[in-house]
Amino acid sequence: MRTFNESVSKIEESKKYLAGGVSSFLRGAMKPIPLFVKTASGSHVIDADGNDYIDYLLAYGPLILGHADPELTEKTYQAMKSGNAYGLQHDGEILLSKRLTEVLPCADKVTFSGSGTEAVMLALRLARAYTNRQKVIRFHGHYHGWSDAIFTSFPSPDLVKENSDQADRVLPGTSGQSESSLQDIILLPWNDPEALKQALDMYGEQIAAIITEPVMCNSGCILPKPGYLEQMREWTQELGIVLIFDEVITGFRLGIGGAHGRFNIKPDLVTMGKAVAGGVPLSVVAGKEEIMDLVATGRVNHLGTMNGNTMVTAAGLATIDILSKNNNAVFEKMERLTQNLVSGLRDVMLKNGVRGVINQIGPVFHMMFIQEDEVRDFATFQKRDAAKYSLFAEKMLDEGILVRPTGLWYVSAVHSDEDIQRTIEGADRVLQSME
Ligand code: PMP
Repeated sequence: MRTFNESVSKIEESKKYLAGGVSSFLRGAMKPIPLFVKTASGSHVIDADGNDYIDYLLAYGPLILGHADPELTEKTYQAMKSGNAYGLQHDGEILLSKRLTEVLPCADKVTFSGSGTEAVMLALRLARAYTNRQKVIRFHGHYHGWSDAIFTSFPSPDLVKENSDQADRVLPGTSGQSESSLQDIILLPWNDPEALKQALDMYGEQIAAIITEPVMCNSGCILPKPGYLEQMREWTQELGIVLIFDEVITGFRLGIGGAHGRFNIKPDLVTMGKAVAGGVPLSVVAGKEEIMDLVATGRVNHLGTMNGNTMVTAAGLATIDILSKNNNAVFEKMERLTQNLVSGLRDVMLKNGVRGVINQIGPVFHMMFIQEDEVRDFATFQKRDAAKYSLFAEKMLDEGILVRPTGLWYVSAVHSDEDIQRTIEGADRVLQSME
């Protein structure tokens, strides 16, 4: 059994000065203890007690190149040596924005911010300004950051299942959120063209934007039904609604052109974060010139002291360079490793009599313990045994494997076949012990 004595004493120390002891709320929920990291390299993390883990948390998604990629680190460091932020323009901004317009099919122009939350705030603002409308449609189970503009909590699974009126009530995501912030948000079930049609019939030309994750990665890694996103694209075009794909997770993960490149659908705007600079805090809004140019004319304010500094542009460029080497071969590697991992995990669940579902696309998947044979909507996703999965994640630490307690796994470009094999063997032992 591994011990976590150092992490235990450090979290106590941290709590004295840092509210909650962690810098982002979810991290505090980690069992048995929020881990403190001593160092990390490639696909591995070593905690403060010297325990070594194969890492599938990957900082909640950004580390598509693994930890401390030598090329990314060197290029970022070199950029910083000439000054890391100027509040003035520099070539890195031109190079990265040009490169992004080349790799992202929907991008005529881009802007830079620091987090996915900010990118979503700007995209919503652009959509409202462009359409002169206020309402925004969003979906159950999707996450678009923690701003007052869009953060909601979700109704109970029973309400959703019963299709109760109450299920569509838009409730703030947190205490302290401005009460009026969500008055123009319409919350709908996802992957349900009928529900969308009804809302569009009712509110049609009052709607500024529909915002959706193109794959519902935040709740079950659920794929869009065939034709669903295409239908959404068609209806939004007819009604003059701005279609926003929130690609904060899928951007660069599902291919260098993001999910919209992979699915060959052009939204009006995309938001990207996480993997876009391989773990350095950069986010991007990209899209149609006539919408993006609202920023250029100053009609829409886009601000931020740290936006587009030399560190983030160097990291963004390095990430694109590395991912696009050898004709994007790294995506095939990640896909192959992830498929091997997923099929191994399915085998060991079956072998140990544990009912579960894994939904996967590219190098991201969601593993859940659930009685149903498939998980294709949020209501079914809500039926998973979250407590049992969280116990599984905790026990995986003893096997030297770090996974997110809620079930979403990421695979990086630097995971190895050996990592995958060890992970399957570890999962097998853990599942045996949980019977
Ligand atoms: N959108 C999506 C789809 C996300 O998954 C996240 C973060 N998990 C965000 C937006 C917010 O990004 P950030 O945490 O960088 O603010």
